[in-house]
Amino acid sequence: MSHTIVTSVCEGVADCVDACPVNCIDQGPGKNAKGTDWYWIDFATCIDCGICLQVCPVEGAIIPEEKSELQLMK
Ligand code: SF4
Ligand code: SF4
Repeated sequence: MSHTIVTSVCEGVADCVDACPVNCIDQGPGKNAKGTDWYWIDFATCIDCGICLQVCPVEGAIIPEEKSELQLMK
């Protein structure tokens, strides 16, 4: 299982990127519906540790489930 970054909610703060112990969070191209940068989690590499969710300042941007329909990939 994996965590998911909800593309339309992420604000591109990127606190999650440095916090992830397996370096599986990458920036997507362009802007999301909010007009901000956005990031995505590589489901195949994520170890479901939950650290990204703890450090993300944006309510609802990361959810502790694998929901591919909510997250665009690069
Ligand atoms: S998921 Fe949260 S911490 Fe990560 S880039 Fe988006 S807003 Fe920032
Ligand atoms: S749950 Fe852990 S391994 Fe998965 S993206 Fe978040 S910080 Fe990285």
